[in-house]
Amino acid sequence: MKDENFVLIIGGGPVGLTAAIELGWRGVPTTLISANTETVRHPKCNSANARSMEFFHRLGLADQIRADGLPSGFSRDTTYVTRYCGHELGRIPRPFTAIQRGKGPWQTAQLPHAISQIRLEPILKRAAESYDCVDVNFGWKLNALTDTADGVLATVENVQSGEQKRIKAQYVIGADGARSPMRKHIGAEMKMLGEFQQRAFMGGSMLSLYIRAPGLLAASGRAPDTLAWIINREVRGFTFAQDGRERWVVHYQVPAGVDWQTLDTKQVIGALLGTDIDFEILSGGPWTGGIALISERFQSASNRIFLVGDAAHLYTPLGGLGMNTGIGDAMNLAWKLAALHDGWGGPALLASYESERRPIGLRNGRHGIDCAKIMGGWEIPADLEEEGPGADQTRAAFGRMCIETDHGQYNTSGIIFGERYEDSPLIFADSSPPPPDDLYNYAPHDRAGARMPHFWLADERSCFDALGRDLSLVVFGDVDFSSFEAAARERALPLTMVRQERAERPETYRSDLVLVRPDHHIAWHGQNAPADPAAVLDRARGQPG
Ligand SMILES: Cc1cc2nc3c(=O)[nH]c(=O)nc-3n(C[C@H](O)[C@H](O)[C@H](O)COP(=O)(O)OP(=O)(O)OC[C@H]3O[C@@H](n4cnc5c(N)ncnc54)[C@H](O)[C@@H]3O)c2cc1C
Repeated sequence: MKDENFVLIIGGGPVGLTAAIELGWRGVPTTLISANTETVRHPKCNSANARSMEFFHRLGLADQIRADGLPSGFSRDTTYVTRYCGHELGRIPRPFTAIQRGKGPWQTAQLPHAISQIRLEPILKRAAESYDCVDVNFGWKLNALTDTADGVLATVENVQSGEQKRIKAQYVIGADGARSPMRKHIGAEMKMLGEFQQRAFMGGSMLSLYIRAPGLLAASGRAPDTLAWIINREVRGFTFAQDGRERWVVHYQVPAGVDWQTLDTKQVIGALLGTDIDFEILSGGPWTGGIALISERFQSASNRIFLVGDAAHLYTPLGGLGMNTGIGDAMNLAWKLAALHDGWGGPALLASYESERRPIGLRNGRHGIDCAKIMGGWEIPADLEEEGPGADQTRAAFGRMCIETDHGQYNTSGIIFGERYEDSPLIFADSSPPPPDDLYNYAPHDRAGARMPHFWLADERSCFDALGRDLSLVVFGDVDFSSFEAAARERALPLTMVRQERAERPETYRSDLVLVRPDHHIAWHGQNAPADPAAVLDRARGQPG
């Protein structure tokens, strides 16, 4: 292990590993330590959303993730069932079936992919290890951290041998999960979003069980699904397919007042599945549903220590935003640290992290809680599992109600693509009032602070594939951009020009010049070069005059 590096990442979960890969891709000397000796073994997150896939594509990992996740032909449907092998009440097909070419809310070249965290993390670990400038150390925990005049000094310990080492770093990324020692180090507390409510479902103690059940698909007699919500008056829970063949994670709502450790897990799973086929329990553990927490601060006053992922915000998993928002944190922070390392970034980049990401943390955290309120509030009809035409009608009506009230959980294009940093100190905000933040139907906006609306290039590539690694200026038509080039040259600022025919400018773009940050967000746009392009570039690179 190196005794000094530019960045020290504490935590080797998906978010810390993604930060390490992004920093490695940008050539930043980085050390990652993780108290775990290996990547996670029990399933948690099940999906890399479309925004995460856009970043993973840039890092060359999207194909591997698609190959290791659920097989591409496997149904991505969500169902509502009385038991896994019981009655199907309703089914939501995925809202996207093909890559949208400029229409509808899923405007991306990278659709989401269902992949279990137990399969994702090894891909990320291998990728982080592949960079010479990234020093990955699993089985090392942080014992102490001292703030110094020019960074931090960490004392780390090998969890197996007890050997201790010291590492100096200029910046620390706290990707150390829900209990985050880094959060405690910067003196920040978690605050709850809203009041905690004990609910019949997704409000209290949950038990997660990873099973192998080779006969389950056939026993169900139903078309396959990725996610099945199990609803009856005896047990509530859900299943998530892990390999599309024989492995599932099964979640059970532990009834109020019951200690999960006293449960007969075989009996619980049998009740949820509604079948007596054989299955094997591979692993299990408790978690708490229906709570969302957010750290009151995302960074230290010194701007040396930054919290990302579960260390910064802990969500209830409905809507699938915990890890994915954490990946957004890592992508927001990594280019800023890289810009400082490479010498073209200024101090305002660091100061901007919390102001850009904490509002997103709050926004995304509310979604899971809203979904929990909906699902936890359903009144389950007495005859839901009975036979006969009356019960058939009850099931049909109940299924319709489930789909109608719960569909927002999956139609998250607005949440995913619509993150905007309109109040950021790094952008030149539009003067017009911001449009509403529609969480469920993404409408592309070319506003400063928004993710640049996706479009296809004439050669069929995604516009994101044409951007440079650092700042990019997208130029539509023959507009004069030479003053931008000159200002960038004077500052030794890496600025990639992306030239497009004027006729190729999509309707969503109002301007011929669009300055795009490394994380795809728009820093500035205008019909012509501004009077002072240096001021625009200086603000975007965190070095305002
Ligand atoms: C049931 C369930 C379902 C979920 N489904 C989804 C989903 O569909 N979509 C989604 O986006 N998210 C989902 N999540 C959330 C997702 O699993 C987490 O958000 C994700 O694991 C957070 O990643 P992280 O890297 O921030 O933290 P973690 O994965 O918790 O990793 C923290 C790391 O820090 C290390 N660490 C801690 N302390 C120290 C120390 N002192 N020294 C060194 N290392 C340390 C740990 O060893 C670990 O490697 C789900 C969660 C659950 C429980």
